[in-house]
Amino acid sequence: MKRLTLENITARHGLMTAVRDLSFDVPEGEVLCVVGANGAGKTTLMRTIAGAHVAAEGRVLVGGEDVTGLSAFARVRAGIAMSPEGRRLFADMTVRENLMIAGENGRKGNWTLDSVVAAFPQIEPFLNALAGGLSGGQRQAVAIGRALMANPDILLLDEVSLGLSPAAVEGVYDSLGKLKAAGSMTMVIVEQDLARAMSFADHIICMAEGVKELDGKPETLSKAAITQAYFGIHEGEAAHV
Ligand code: ATP
Repeated sequence: MKRLTLENITARHGLMTAVRDLSFDVPEGEVLCVVGANGAGKTTLMRTIAGAHVAAEGRVLVGGEDVTGLSAFARVRAGIAMSPEGRRLFADMTVRENLMIAGENGRKGNWTLDSVVAAFPQIEPFLNALAGGLSGGQRQAVAIGRALMANPDILLLDEVSLGLSPAAVEGVYDSLGKLKAAGSMTMVIVEQDLARAMSFADHIICMAEGVKELDGKPETLSKAAITQAYFGIHEGEAAHV
């Protein structure tokens, strides 16, 4: 568990700037939820933190250590693990194999196959099933479990509830709630479901067109303010939309 700090991160796809001069600080054991419309830059931001996308400018710090120059693989060693959008499991390997491979390539620690299954009990009946045959909710639980197997300090979860049934979302957030209550993980979660983000996060940022439009604790942010930020509406512009 460590603090995650972003300092003035800019990330581009060719000439297109997907994330612009974005900074935040997530204290140890806290949860930051990132919300924003499609194309706002959330996935690019997460990939830039994980080292899967190279930042054009700015710094990523884990516990005060600058990891900006490290590859994605080296960042896993530095304590960052990501469950990507789309979950990306090895479809023709079993759930157990998917988890064990992540464990072998990650850091050693308290997260093992047993502790992951205890935290995500919905995985247990499917340990020997091929990952390709799982439902969306099961795949999401395995993808988060796979990230935990690397024993990270910082857990990045892209699009937690996208495409899941309400019951599956409940199941995944039950498990994440226990992780949060244990205070053992610093988390950044991209969440499309605004109500869910408001109830789960310690802190929320809203992105629009690559820019951080809004930043605050859920209890200090009104729904109207978030909705405006979500669509990138600035004061005085609302009448034209
Ligand atoms: P979504 O919710 O649709 O996944 P997002 O908020 O995660 O959206 P990104 O996927 O980060 O946003 O995309 C931000 C911008 O960067 C978009 O305009 C997108 O078209 C563009 N973009 C994303 N990936 C690439 C890429 N590989 N090459 C070129 N442009 C890209």
